[in-house]
Amino acid sequence: MIIVIKKEHEQKQLDNLVKWVKAQGVEIDTSIGSNSTVLGLIGDTSKIDIDLLRSLDIVEDVKRIQEPYKCANRKFHPDDTIVDVSGHKFGGNHFQIIAGPCSVESEKQIIYVAEKVKAAGATVLRGGAFKPRTSPYSFQGLRENGLKLLLKAKEETGMPIVTEIMSVRHIDLFKDVDIIQVGARDMQNFELLKEVGKLNKPVLLKRGLANTVEEWLMSAEYIMSEGCKDIILCERGIRTFEPYTRNTLDLSAIPLLKELTHLPVIVDPSHASGIARLVHPLSLAAVGAGAHGLMIEVHNDPPHALCDGAQSIRPEQFEDLVKNIDVMLPIVGKERDKS
Ligand code: PEP
Ligand code: MN
Repeated sequence: MIIVIKKEHEQKQLDNLVKWVKAQGVEIDTSIGSNSTVLGLIGDTSKIDIDLLRSLDIVEDVKRIQEPYKCANRKFHPDDTIVDVSGHKFGGNHFQIIAGPCSVESEKQIIYVAEKVKAAGATVLRGGAFKPRTSPYSFQGLRENGLKLLLKAKEETGMPIVTEIMSVRHIDLFKDVDIIQVGARDMQNFELLKEVGKLNKPVLLKRGLANTVEEWLMSAEYIMSEGCKDIILCERGIRTFEPYTRNTLDLSAIPLLKELTHLPVIVDPSHASGIARLVHPLSLAAVGAGAHGLMIEVHNDPPHALCDGAQSIRPEQFEDLVKNIDVMLPIVGKERDKS
């Protein structure tokens, strides 16, 4: 971290600042130029409040030269992390497709969709039991019963399952869930992140609706600092000024994340666009950008879905999409897990 001191400053103010910084456990390298004085902070600056420094009268500017995340940082872990979910690998040159309905609606529905998406090439089944809805009057998910039905679909099809946790109070219900999903709205629910990090299970961490890549990686850091190493990041679109789509898919985040972190990154084109007919082209774009996988909402009867019907594709459309993904994968040097 570098602190640039204003030209006009009192020596006493500077001495106080140096004393304060040293008390945080870091060393200082001072360089006095004719126009400005620059303090170079050496050591672990992750606990230093950058905004507090910026607010000081004598401080002109503060710059971080090292990212505030460590466990998730590729600099300290150059090799890709491979997250193994019952033998299905996320990361490196592996490509996985997660598919299923937005919400579990009935035993018949979840098993039907699970069998269809499995036959078409999905390796992990998704389905929401606890649903984070904007309105309290909308369908909230089948909750405990939804989890039971999802586990039944796991048993019937052999597919591992991913489903969203919304409260620390529900943790015990998730013991047989293979991947715990932390949704966009909870990306910065830090208490939840800490508890999920203690479970020793893979976590699918979705990007917050209006969060930067750095904030997202700091949330991964919360989970990792509790001992969990298996995090899959999921870009699901961010809020912009564009009203034609539900969100805007930030494709640039994919190659960028691959530089910044060793964690696998997948894309959810369903929530990113909110429009079923855009799911196909956005999925292919995500493959082209180097994503390690996709998470796609597939429903047996989208017009009658209890949640997110407008963005859900039908099993036949999913099957077509997987065929086109297979055409693209060799170009990006990835292989789809077919087991
Ligand atoms: C979901 O995947 O069901 C979901 C609610 O997604 P997000 O958190 O990205 O909105
Ligand atoms: Mn949904």
